[in-house]
Amino acid sequence: MAAHFQSFNRRQFIKGISLALGTTALGAPLLGFGSGNKTYGEKEKDWGLQGNAQKKKLGVALVGLGNYSTNQLAPALQETEHCYLAGIVTGTPSKAETLKKKYNLPDKNIYTYETMEQVANNPDIDVLYIVLPNGLHAEYTIKAANAGKNVICEKPMATSVEDCQRMIDACKKNKVHLSIGYRLHFEPHHQRIMELGQKKVYGDVKKIEAADSFVIGNPDVWRLDKKLAGGGPLMDLGIYCVQGAIYTMGESPVAITARFGKVTKPKFFNEVEETISWQMHFTNRAVADCRSSYNEEGNLLYGEAEKGWWRLQPAYSYSGLKGKTSEGAMDFPQVNQQARQLDGIAQNIREGTESRVPGEMGMRDVRILMAIYEAARTGKRVSLG
Ligand code: NAD
Repeated sequence: MAAHFQSFNRRQFIKGISLALGTTALGAPLLGFGSGNKTYGEKEKDWGLQGNAQKKKLGVALVGLGNYSTNQLAPALQETEHCYLAGIVTGTPSKAETLKKKYNLPDKNIYTYETMEQVANNPDIDVLYIVLPNGLHAEYTIKAANAGKNVICEKPMATSVEDCQRMIDACKKNKVHLSIGYRLHFEPHHQRIMELGQKKVYGDVKKIEAADSFVIGNPDVWRLDKKLAGGGPLMDLGIYCVQGAIYTMGESPVAITARFGKVTKPKFFNEVEETISWQMHFTNRAVADCRSSYNEEGNLLYGEAEKGWWRLQPAYSYSGLKGKTSEGAMDFPQVNQQARQLDGIAQNIREGTESRVPGEMGMRDVRILMAIYEAARTGKRVSLG
């Protein structure tokens, strides 16, 4: 009986994956808006691909060559099927030189922040991927859209809801595609959790626990600068807990309660929070209890339903995810999350279909992050209309 149950779930899961990689996303109902991956109108279909480019591998230029671009995205773009590393935008000539040699990039595809807008005239570049500090996401996404290029923007989408709206508007106006770098939507353990929760495989979800934290070792980084980061661990790490809770439930929370933790290292945490814990309250009375800190370790997504439970720990790492359910170990491969994400988004752009991780989802999450801060500041329950 248990074996049959498992194989049924596995079949369902595989179906889910193939749907997710095609034009209908498993993630569609969790957006809570729009109709999933609808095809856009004929007029909008070109997605800044400059004519006949729809059939080729898309050229991606990374904007900002920090840790994530250099160590994750650039290598992932060597493994992708539907896109490749075509160019870079950087303020540091030595980084440009290193990547140019390593990935054989032509000089004409290497830009500085000042020259980036000239990319408008470069048919090699179809997508600009914004991998800058959070406070710069809006400015560079809007510049990229105005240059007629499709955009992938890293999480969190921006540091205010107003900026998110401006980014969405700029992409709509220029008829380009906008996605957020939510890699876990393309990862099999997380896709299984979406299915367990949203399809109520073990009945109604009653409880979620999520934590994402690490110890920050250096006080002089943009992540501790309010203007550049928008906030502390909540913006950087807690967003994964918010995402995890929402895609487990398949809907947004209706209210938030929260509180800030103690500041134990005032030299580090004089602009942003050191630790924050919060609860996301859902319509069926399920509660997601979440926590994020820059001064402890944490990496968990747990869910409990009427007839079973699941636990991912570590949950948010680039590899080595470990999952268990009340029926036993989760047996899924470790994948190159960034390569899958890039390929999934590139396919959407080429096919003219809606992203599985669109700007609207990024804005929904920033709205929730802001509500969490408001609840922690005021000590009051904040309703999300
Ligand atoms: P990083 O500090 O390693 O890199 C930031 C880059 O921005 C550097 O190249 C820096 O030179 C450049 N930069 C340009 N203007 C700057 C300014 N005014 N101040 C500071 N730096 C400036 O950071 P990172 O870890 O690569 O993060 C970049 C973005 O990627 C962030 O939004 C972060 O949230 C996101 N990120 C996402 C993931 C993920 O798993 N999706 C992982 C890591 C980072």
